[in-house]
Amino acid sequence: ADVVNKIAAGEVIERPASVVKELLENSLDALATRVELEVARGGTDLIRVTDDGEGIEPDDLPLAIASHATSKLQEADDLFRVRTMGFRGEALASIASVSRFRLRSRTADHEVGSELKVDGHGHGHGDGLGDPQPVGCPVGTQVEVANLFHNTPVRRKFLKTVSTEFGHVAEQFTRLALAHPRLAAVLKHDGRTVFDLPATDSLIDRLELFYGSATTERLIPVESEVGEVKLWGFVGHPELSKGSRKGQYLFLNGRYIQDRSLQHALGEAYRGLVMVGRHPIAYLFLEMPPEMVDVNVHPTKNEVRFEDSSSLYRQLLSTLRTRFLSLDL
Ligand code: ADP
Ligand code: MG
Repeated sequence: ADVVNKIAAGEVIERPASVVKELLENSLDALATRVELEVARGGTDLIRVTDDGEGIEPDDLPLAIASHATSKLQEADDLFRVRTMGFRGEALASIASVSRFRLRSRTADHEVGSELKVDGHGHGHGDGLGDPQPVGCPVGTQVEVANLFHNTPVRRKFLKTVSTEFGHVAEQFTRLALAHPRLAAVLKHDGRTVFDLPATDSLIDRLELFYGSATTERLIPVESEVGEVKLWGFVGHPELSKGSRKGQYLFLNGRYIQDRSLQHALGEAYRGLVMVGRHPIAYLFLEMPPEMVDVNVHPTKNEVRFEDSSSLYRQLLSTLRTRFLSLDL
């Protein structure tokens, strides 16, 4: 099983940021209202995620890191949990197989928590798995991933500089924090607090903490509804445009996605408003019934397949064009 886990890890766990994505998603799935992400040396030395979610029962702790273990329902309408079958319930197992791993958790109906350690070497009984030990901790879950790829030296060697790896980690954090303003979220790097975001009902408040009021003052609210598809969010004034598409965020039913076609529609809406080679910034949210989209495209690429992509294209384009006309841009 250890070899299988390492192979599975190779497909999805490329770098510290991939671990961060999986752990933060688990915290959200566990209904956390606050999550703290601490990393050391860009996540290459340590990644620690602490949440106040519902926790894991002591008896279920070993199960949580067994491959193909998932406590999550497999309902077709359970949108993003129905991901590629190959990686369902495998994130923790994969991560544990390529790191020094510690899982601590406590549910509300226990006085103490329990912890489980895995050292990624495959000794101890089974897969390097010790027995759960009682430990004092608050309700919720803490996952610690140290020395990522310590036992897969080739992959370790392909990690980039600390600042590059931290950039990817911070980007994962940003995507989650923008998608969920109601989640209090903290990011620390090498002991320094990079973000300490209070829970808020307002996306614009959260955007202001990331980008400052000089940016948020020049954001244009947009909104439209076509059939069952709701589109809302903010797009930047043309003068906020950037030299890359890095300021473009698109979320589908609460999860970050990337979509070529919608990116193109965004560019089209700004045609003539921004110079060639410049890209508008945007924070856009799409909400639609799960059956209108196939999310089982690839576990890591954030890509989805829409049932009616061209209708979405037109909706985005016309929503923005109408808005720009009304503003006389
Ligand atoms: P999946 O998320 O696809 O179920 P994972 O390997 O990411 O698979 O997690 C395995 C299981 O461990 C989850 O189904 C869940 O029961 C439990 N788990 C993982 N992280 C947390 C967390 N932060 N809080 C509560 N339970 C968790
Ligand atoms: Mg998961």
